[in-house]
Amino acid sequence: KINVGVLGATGMVGQRYIKLLENHPWFKVTYVAASPRSAGKLYKQAVENRWLIGSDIPDDVKDLTVQDANNADLAVGKCRFVFSALEMGKDEIKALEAAYAQKGIPVVSNASANRWTEDVPMLIPEINWNHIDVIEAQKEHHGWDKGFIAVKPNCSLQTYMMPLYALQQAGYPVKRMIVTTLQAVSGAGYPGVSSFDMIDNIVPYIGGEEEKTEKECLKILGSVKDGKIENAAFPVVSSTCTRVPVIDGHTATVNLEFDLPEDKKPSLEEIINVWRNFSSVPQELDLPSAPKHPIVYREEINRPQPKRDRDTEKGMACVLGRLRKCNVFDVKFVALSHNTKRGAALGGILNAELLKAKGFFN
Ligand code: NAP
Repeated sequence: KINVGVLGATGMVGQRYIKLLENHPWFKVTYVAASPRSAGKLYKQAVENRWLIGSDIPDDVKDLTVQDANNADLAVGKCRFVFSALEMGKDEIKALEAAYAQKGIPVVSNASANRWTEDVPMLIPEINWNHIDVIEAQKEHHGWDKGFIAVKPNCSLQTYMMPLYALQQAGYPVKRMIVTTLQAVSGAGYPGVSSFDMIDNIVPYIGGEEEKTEKECLKILGSVKDGKIENAAFPVVSSTCTRVPVIDGHTATVNLEFDLPEDKKPSLEEIINVWRNFSSVPQELDLPSAPKHPIVYREEINRPQPKRDRDTEKGMACVLGRLRKCNVFDVKFVALSHNTKRGAALGGILNAELLKAKGFFN
Protein backbone atom coordinates (compact mmCIF):
# COMPACT_ATOMS: atom_id res chain seq x y z
CA LYS A 1 0.00 0.00 0.00
CA ILE A 2 1.02 3.61 -0.52
CA ASN A 3 1.62 5.57 2.71
CA VAL A 4 -0.48 8.73 2.84
CA GLY A 5 -0.84 11.72 5.14
CA VAL A 6 -3.92 13.76 6.08
CA LEU A 7 -3.49 17.49 6.75
CA GLY A 8 -6.38 18.81 8.83
CA ALA A 9 -6.94 15.24 10.05
CA THR A 10 -8.80 16.38 13.18
CA GLY A 11 -11.51 18.39 11.35
CA MET A 12 -14.87 17.42 9.90
CA VAL A 13 -13.47 16.41 6.50
CA GLY A 14 -10.20 15.09 7.97
CA GLN A 15 -12.07 12.66 10.23
CA ARG A 16 -13.99 11.38 7.20
CA TYR A 17 -10.66 10.77 5.45
CA ILE A 18 -9.37 8.82 8.43
CA LYS A 19 -12.47 6.62 8.53
CA LEU A 20 -12.82 6.15 4.77
CA LEU A 21 -9.16 5.22 4.36
CA GLU A 22 -9.49 2.44 6.96
CA ASN A 23 -8.98 -0.79 4.98
CA HIS A 24 -8.49 1.09 1.70
CA PRO A 25 -7.00 -1.37 -0.81
CA TRP A 26 -4.32 1.06 -2.08
CA PHE A 27 -3.66 3.66 0.62
CA LYS A 28 -2.63 3.51 4.29
CA VAL A 29 -2.64 6.51 6.66
CA THR A 30 0.79 6.86 8.24
CA TYR A 31 0.87 10.62 8.92
CA VAL A 32 -1.65 13.00 10.48
CA ALA A 33 -1.26 16.75 10.93
CA ALA A 34 -3.41 19.66 12.13
CA SER A 35 -2.99 23.01 13.89
CA PRO A 36 -0.38 23.71 16.57
CA ARG A 37 -3.27 23.29 19.07
CA SER A 38 -3.42 19.56 18.25
CA ALA A 39 0.25 18.98 17.42
CA GLY A 40 2.06 16.66 19.86
CA LYS A 41 -1.14 14.89 20.99
CA LEU A 42 -2.06 11.34 20.06
CA TYR A 43 -4.78 11.42 17.39
CA LYS A 44 -7.34 9.91 19.79
CA GLN A 45 -6.60 12.69 22.32
CA ALA A 46 -6.73 15.43 19.68
CA VAL A 47 -10.24 14.40 18.59
CA GLU A 48 -11.53 13.54 22.07
CA ASN A 49 -15.13 14.80 22.46
CA ARG A 50 -15.23 15.89 18.80
CA TRP A 51 -14.98 12.59 16.90
CA LEU A 52 -18.09 12.95 14.75
CA ILE A 53 -18.10 9.74 12.74
CA GLY A 54 -20.57 7.14 13.97
CA SER A 55 -18.01 4.38 14.65
CA ASP A 56 -14.62 3.98 16.34
CA ILE A 57 -11.38 5.69 15.38
CA PRO A 58 -9.39 3.22 13.24
CA ASP A 59 -6.84 1.26 15.33
CA ASP A 60 -3.88 2.07 13.11
CA VAL A 61 -4.48 5.83 13.38
CA LYS A 62 -5.65 6.44 16.96
CA ASP A 63 -2.14 6.26 18.41
CA LEU A 64 -0.37 8.28 15.71
CA THR A 65 1.07 11.55 17.02
CA VAL A 66 -0.50 14.60 15.36
CA GLN A 67 2.12 16.81 13.70
CA ASP A 68 2.03 20.54 12.96
CA ALA A 69 0.67 20.85 9.40
CA ASN A 70 2.51 24.17 9.00
CA ASN A 71 5.86 22.36 8.82
CA ALA A 72 6.07 20.40 5.55
CA ASP A 73 9.55 19.08 6.48
CA LEU A 74 7.96 16.83 9.11
CA ALA A 75 6.09 14.85 6.42
CA VAL A 76 9.15 14.09 4.31
CA GLY A 77 9.82 10.35 4.29
CA LYS A 78 6.59 9.64 6.24
CA CYS A 79 4.14 9.52 3.35
CA ARG A 80 4.14 9.50 -0.46
CA PHE A 81 1.39 12.14 -0.78
CA VAL A 82 -1.04 14.07 1.44
CA PHE A 83 -4.74 14.80 1.42
CA SER A 84 -5.28 18.41 2.45
CA ALA A 85 -8.40 19.20 4.51
CA LEU A 86 -7.14 22.35 6.20
CA GLU A 87 -9.32 25.29 7.18
CA MET A 88 -7.12 28.39 7.24
CA GLY A 89 -6.78 31.64 5.31
CA LYS A 90 -6.60 31.15 1.53
CA ASP A 91 -3.10 32.61 1.19
CA GLU A 92 -1.82 30.48 4.06
CA ILE A 93 -3.23 27.29 2.50
CA LYS A 94 -1.82 28.22 -0.91
CA ALA A 95 1.65 28.73 0.55
CA LEU A 96 1.43 25.55 2.61
CA GLU A 97 0.25 23.32 -0.26
CA ALA A 98 3.09 24.70 -2.41
CA ALA A 99 5.56 23.95 0.39
CA TYR A 100 4.53 20.27 0.44
CA ALA A 101 4.73 20.05 -3.38
CA GLN A 102 8.14 21.72 -3.23
CA LYS A 103 9.31 19.01 -0.83
CA GLY A 104 8.28 16.35 -3.37
CA ILE A 105 4.97 15.51 -1.65
CA PRO A 106 1.93 15.71 -3.97
CA VAL A 107 -1.15 17.37 -2.45
CA VAL A 108 -4.70 16.18 -3.16
CA SER A 109 -6.71 19.04 -1.72
CA ASN A 110 -10.23 19.85 -0.60
CA ALA A 111 -9.49 23.49 0.10
CA SER A 112 -10.62 26.23 -2.26
CA ALA A 113 -7.28 28.11 -2.21
CA ASN A 114 -5.91 26.59 -5.43
CA ARG A 115 -9.15 26.02 -7.33
CA TRP A 116 -8.52 29.02 -9.56
CA THR A 117 -4.80 28.44 -10.06
CA GLU A 118 -4.77 27.95 -13.84
CA ASP A 119 -2.29 25.05 -13.91
CA VAL A 120 -4.05 23.16 -11.06
CA PRO A 121 -6.70 20.63 -12.12
CA MET A 122 -10.04 20.86 -10.28
CA LEU A 123 -11.25 17.30 -10.66
CA ILE A 124 -14.49 15.39 -10.76
CA PRO A 125 -13.00 12.21 -12.25
CA GLU A 126 -16.16 11.24 -14.16
CA ILE A 127 -16.09 14.60 -15.95
CA ASN A 128 -12.63 16.09 -16.41
CA TRP A 129 -10.24 13.18 -15.75
CA ASN A 130 -8.14 14.49 -18.66
CA HIS A 131 -7.33 17.73 -16.78
CA ILE A 132 -4.59 15.74 -15.01
CA ASP A 133 -2.64 16.38 -18.23
CA VAL A 134 -1.93 19.90 -16.93
CA ILE A 135 0.12 18.52 -14.01
CA GLU A 136 3.32 18.12 -16.05
CA ALA A 137 3.15 21.83 -16.99
CA GLN A 138 2.46 22.75 -13.36
CA LYS A 139 5.58 20.87 -12.22
CA GLU A 140 7.60 22.54 -14.94
CA HIS A 141 6.33 26.04 -14.04
CA HIS A 142 7.48 25.59 -10.43
CA GLY A 143 10.51 23.39 -11.01
CA TRP A 144 8.87 20.69 -8.87
CA ASP A 145 10.23 17.20 -9.35
CA LYS A 146 7.69 14.82 -7.80
CA GLY A 147 5.32 17.20 -6.03
CA PHE A 148 2.17 18.73 -7.52
CA ILE A 149 -1.27 19.98 -6.46
CA ALA A 150 -4.67 18.67 -7.58
CA VAL A 151 -7.93 19.93 -6.04
CA LYS A 152 -11.60 19.15 -5.71
CA PRO A 153 -14.38 21.61 -6.53
CA ASN A 154 -16.85 23.01 -4.01
CA CYS A 155 -19.30 20.47 -2.57
CA SER A 156 -22.48 22.35 -3.56
CA LEU A 157 -22.02 22.10 -7.33
CA GLN A 158 -21.47 18.34 -7.15
CA THR A 159 -25.25 18.10 -6.96
CA TYR A 160 -25.71 19.30 -10.55
CA MET A 161 -22.38 18.80 -12.40
CA MET A 162 -22.78 15.13 -13.24
CA PRO A 163 -26.34 15.36 -14.70
CA LEU A 164 -25.30 18.50 -16.59
CA TYR A 165 -22.18 16.85 -18.06
CA ALA A 166 -24.04 13.61 -18.92
CA LEU A 167 -26.56 15.65 -20.95
CA GLN A 168 -23.81 17.62 -22.67
CA GLN A 169 -21.99 14.38 -23.60
CA ALA A 170 -25.20 12.96 -25.05
CA GLY A 171 -25.52 15.97 -27.40
CA TYR A 172 -27.81 18.10 -25.23
CA PRO A 173 -25.71 21.15 -24.22
CA VAL A 174 -27.11 23.45 -21.55
CA LYS A 175 -27.16 27.23 -21.99
CA ARG A 176 -28.58 28.58 -18.72
CA MET A 177 -29.39 27.22 -15.28
CA ILE A 178 -30.97 28.43 -12.06
CA VAL A 179 -29.79 26.52 -9.00
CA THR A 180 -31.05 26.82 -5.42
CA THR A 181 -29.06 24.80 -2.89
CA LEU A 182 -30.23 23.54 0.50
CA GLN A 183 -26.91 22.77 2.16
CA ALA A 184 -26.20 20.59 5.19
CA VAL A 185 -24.60 21.97 8.37
CA SER A 186 -21.60 19.61 8.09
CA GLY A 187 -20.54 21.71 5.11
CA ALA A 188 -19.54 24.45 7.55
CA GLY A 189 -17.07 22.25 9.46
CA TYR A 190 -17.21 21.67 13.23
CA PRO A 191 -18.70 23.27 15.35
CA GLY A 192 -19.98 25.25 12.35
CA VAL A 193 -23.22 27.24 12.51
CA SER A 194 -24.57 27.64 16.06
CA SER A 195 -27.53 25.47 17.02
CA PHE A 196 -29.45 28.64 17.91
CA ASP A 197 -29.14 29.82 14.30
CA MET A 198 -29.88 26.42 12.80
CA ILE A 199 -32.72 24.73 14.71
CA ASP A 200 -36.18 25.80 13.49
CA ASN A 201 -34.53 27.92 10.82
CA ILE A 202 -33.05 28.33 7.33
CA VAL A 203 -30.12 30.69 6.73
CA PRO A 204 -30.42 32.19 3.23
CA TYR A 205 -26.73 33.07 2.86
CA ILE A 206 -23.43 31.15 2.84
CA GLY A 207 -20.42 33.41 2.37
CA GLY A 208 -18.67 32.94 -1.01
CA GLU A 209 -20.75 29.89 -1.93
CA GLU A 210 -22.88 31.38 -4.71
CA GLU A 211 -19.80 32.61 -6.59
CA LYS A 212 -18.25 29.12 -6.34
CA THR A 213 -21.45 27.40 -7.46
CA GLU A 214 -21.76 29.73 -10.43
CA LYS A 215 -18.15 29.78 -11.63
CA GLU A 216 -16.38 26.52 -10.81
CA CYS A 217 -18.43 24.57 -13.37
CA LEU A 218 -16.80 26.59 -16.16
CA LYS A 219 -13.30 25.45 -15.20
CA ILE A 220 -14.45 21.83 -14.81
CA LEU A 221 -16.01 21.89 -18.29
CA GLY A 222 -12.95 23.68 -19.73
CA SER A 223 -9.98 22.14 -21.52
CA VAL A 224 -6.21 21.94 -21.13
CA LYS A 225 -4.42 24.28 -23.52
CA ASP A 226 -0.84 25.61 -23.50
CA GLY A 227 -0.05 24.38 -20.00
CA LYS A 228 -3.18 25.75 -18.33
CA ILE A 229 -6.91 25.16 -18.13
CA GLU A 230 -9.07 27.31 -20.36
CA ASN A 231 -12.61 27.81 -19.02
CA ALA A 232 -15.76 26.89 -20.90
CA ALA A 233 -18.12 29.76 -21.76
CA PHE A 234 -21.37 27.95 -20.82
CA PRO A 235 -23.60 27.33 -18.98
CA VAL A 236 -24.50 30.63 -17.35
CA VAL A 237 -25.55 29.76 -13.80
CA SER A 238 -27.50 31.85 -11.31
CA SER A 239 -27.56 30.36 -7.82
CA THR A 240 -28.98 30.94 -4.35
CA CYS A 241 -27.23 29.00 -1.58
CA THR A 242 -28.98 28.33 1.72
CA ARG A 243 -28.06 26.45 4.91
CA VAL A 244 -30.76 24.08 6.23
CA PRO A 245 -31.00 21.96 9.40
CA VAL A 246 -29.73 18.71 7.81
CA ILE A 247 -26.54 17.04 9.07
CA ASP A 248 -25.18 15.56 5.80
CA GLY A 249 -26.24 15.83 2.16
CA HIS A 250 -26.59 18.91 -0.01
CA THR A 251 -29.83 19.16 -2.01
CA ALA A 252 -30.36 21.48 -4.99
CA THR A 253 -33.31 22.41 -7.15
CA VAL A 254 -32.19 22.93 -10.74
CA ASN A 255 -33.97 24.61 -13.67
CA LEU A 256 -32.20 24.43 -17.01
CA GLU A 257 -32.46 25.57 -20.57
CA PHE A 258 -30.89 23.68 -23.49
CA ASP A 259 -28.77 25.35 -26.14
CA LEU A 260 -30.81 23.64 -28.87
CA PRO A 261 -33.68 24.46 -31.23
CA GLU A 262 -37.09 23.43 -29.92
CA ASP A 263 -37.35 20.29 -32.09
CA LYS A 264 -33.93 18.98 -30.97
CA LYS A 265 -34.54 19.23 -27.24
CA PRO A 266 -34.71 15.89 -25.40
CA SER A 267 -37.92 14.50 -23.91
CA LEU A 268 -38.10 13.75 -20.20
CA GLU A 269 -37.72 10.02 -20.97
CA GLU A 270 -34.60 10.66 -23.07
CA ILE A 271 -33.06 12.72 -20.25
CA ILE A 272 -33.69 10.00 -17.68
CA ASN A 273 -32.17 7.42 -20.05
CA VAL A 274 -29.03 9.54 -20.50
CA TRP A 275 -28.63 9.85 -16.74
CA ARG A 276 -29.26 6.18 -16.02
CA ASN A 277 -26.76 5.05 -18.67
CA PHE A 278 -24.04 7.50 -17.70
CA SER A 279 -20.69 5.93 -16.90
CA SER A 280 -17.15 7.21 -17.31
CA VAL A 281 -13.42 6.68 -16.78
CA PRO A 282 -13.49 5.86 -13.00
CA GLN A 283 -15.98 3.07 -13.77
CA GLU A 284 -13.87 1.82 -16.74
CA LEU A 285 -10.75 1.83 -14.55
CA ASP A 286 -12.73 0.15 -11.77
CA LEU A 287 -11.32 2.57 -9.18
CA PRO A 288 -12.04 1.34 -5.63
CA SER A 289 -14.22 4.33 -4.66
CA ALA A 290 -15.98 4.76 -8.01
CA PRO A 291 -19.75 4.22 -7.80
CA LYS A 292 -21.12 1.64 -10.24
CA HIS A 293 -23.87 4.11 -11.07
CA PRO A 294 -22.61 7.71 -10.75
CA ILE A 295 -26.14 9.03 -11.36
CA VAL A 296 -29.18 7.40 -9.77
CA TYR A 297 -32.62 8.62 -10.85
CA ARG A 298 -35.50 7.89 -8.43
CA GLU A 299 -39.09 7.63 -9.66
CA GLU A 300 -40.80 8.36 -6.32
CA ILE A 301 -42.45 11.78 -6.35
CA ASN A 302 -40.96 12.76 -2.96
CA ARG A 303 -37.28 11.81 -3.54
CA PRO A 304 -34.36 12.43 -3.31
CA GLN A 305 -34.22 13.18 0.41
CA PRO A 306 -30.94 13.67 2.30
CA LYS A 307 -31.83 11.32 5.16
CA ARG A 308 -32.86 8.47 2.85
CA ASP A 309 -30.66 8.92 -0.20
CA ARG A 310 -27.33 10.51 0.75
CA ASP A 311 -25.55 7.18 1.20
CA THR A 312 -26.57 5.78 -2.20
CA GLU A 313 -23.51 4.07 -3.75
CA LYS A 314 -21.63 4.67 -0.45
CA GLY A 315 -22.24 8.41 -0.68
CA MET A 316 -20.72 8.73 -4.17
CA ALA A 317 -23.83 8.88 -6.36
CA CYS A 318 -25.59 11.98 -7.51
CA VAL A 319 -29.23 11.14 -6.71
CA LEU A 320 -31.86 12.81 -8.87
CA GLY A 321 -35.64 12.95 -8.97
CA ARG A 322 -38.71 15.01 -9.83
CA LEU A 323 -37.73 15.70 -13.44
CA ARG A 324 -40.53 17.70 -15.04
CA LYS A 325 -41.22 20.49 -17.55
CA CYS A 326 -40.35 24.03 -16.49
CA ASN A 327 -42.64 26.89 -17.50
CA VAL A 328 -39.74 29.35 -17.70
CA PHE A 329 -36.75 27.24 -18.86
CA ASP A 330 -36.99 23.72 -20.37
CA VAL A 331 -36.89 21.26 -17.48
CA LYS A 332 -36.42 21.19 -13.71
CA PHE A 333 -35.38 18.54 -11.20
CA VAL A 334 -34.09 17.94 -7.67
CA ALA A 335 -30.52 16.73 -7.06
CA LEU A 336 -28.69 15.42 -3.99
CA SER A 337 -25.03 14.72 -3.24
CA HIS A 338 -23.30 13.70 0.02
CA ASN A 339 -21.21 16.77 0.89
CA THR A 340 -18.59 15.17 3.16
CA LYS A 341 -18.30 11.97 1.07
CA ARG A 342 -18.58 12.71 -2.71
CA GLY A 343 -18.31 16.44 -1.97
CA ALA A 344 -15.21 16.16 0.21
CA ALA A 345 -13.23 13.18 1.55
CA LEU A 346 -14.39 10.30 -0.67
CA GLY A 347 -14.29 12.59 -3.71
CA GLY A 348 -10.69 13.43 -2.74
CA ILE A 349 -9.88 9.73 -2.41
CA LEU A 350 -11.36 9.10 -5.87
CA ASN A 351 -9.11 11.87 -7.24
CA ALA A 352 -6.09 10.17 -5.66
CA GLU A 353 -7.17 6.79 -7.08
CA LEU A 354 -7.37 8.30 -10.56
CA LEU A 355 -3.90 9.85 -10.14
CA LYS A 356 -2.49 6.57 -8.87
CA ALA A 357 -4.07 4.60 -11.72
CA LYS A 358 -2.49 7.06 -14.16
CA GLY A 359 0.97 6.60 -12.61
CA PHE A 360 1.31 9.94 -10.80
CA PHE A 361 2.57 8.44 -7.53
CA ASN A 362 5.15 6.14 -9.08
P1 NAP B 1 -12.87 21.98 10.12
O1 NAP B 1 -13.78 20.96 10.67
O2 NAP B 1 -12.90 23.34 10.71
O3 NAP B 1 -11.34 21.40 10.25
C1 NAP B 1 -10.23 22.22 9.99
C2 NAP B 1 -8.90 21.47 10.12
O4 NAP B 1 -7.83 22.41 9.82
C3 NAP B 1 -8.62 20.93 11.51
O5 NAP B 1 -7.88 19.73 11.42
C4 NAP B 1 -7.75 22.02 12.12
O6 NAP B 1 -6.87 21.54 13.15
C5 NAP B 1 -6.92 22.45 10.93
N1 NAP B 1 -6.41 23.81 11.12
C6 NAP B 1 -7.11 24.92 11.49
N2 NAP B 1 -6.28 25.98 11.66
C7 NAP B 1 -5.03 25.53 11.36
C8 NAP B 1 -3.72 26.12 11.37
N3 NAP B 1 -3.54 27.41 11.68
N4 NAP B 1 -2.67 25.37 11.02
C9 NAP B 1 -2.81 24.06 10.70
N5 NAP B 1 -4.02 23.42 10.71
C10 NAP B 1 -5.11 24.15 11.03
O7 NAP B 1 -13.06 22.19 8.55
P2 NAP B 1 -13.68 21.14 7.46
O8 NAP B 1 -15.14 21.32 7.31
O9 NAP B 1 -13.15 19.79 7.77
O10 NAP B 1 -13.06 21.69 6.11
C11 NAP B 1 -11.71 21.41 5.74
C12 NAP B 1 -11.47 21.93 4.32
O11 NAP B 1 -12.29 21.21 3.42
C13 NAP B 1 -11.82 23.41 4.15
O12 NAP B 1 -10.86 24.01 3.31
C14 NAP B 1 -13.19 23.38 3.53
O13 NAP B 1 -13.44 24.52 2.75
C15 NAP B 1 -13.10 22.12 2.65
N6 NAP B 1 -14.36 21.45 2.35
C16 NAP B 1 -15.24 21.12 3.34
C17 NAP B 1 -16.42 20.44 3.01
C18 NAP B 1 -17.45 20.03 4.04
O14 NAP B 1 -18.49 19.47 3.64
N7 NAP B 1 -17.22 20.22 5.35
C19 NAP B 1 -16.69 20.12 1.69
C20 NAP B 1 -15.76 20.44 0.70
C21 NAP B 1 -14.61 21.11 1.04
P3 NAP B 1 -7.29 21.64 14.73
O15 NAP B 1 -8.31 20.57 14.94
O16 NAP B 1 -6.00 21.36 15.41
O17 NAP B 1 -7.81 23.02 14.97
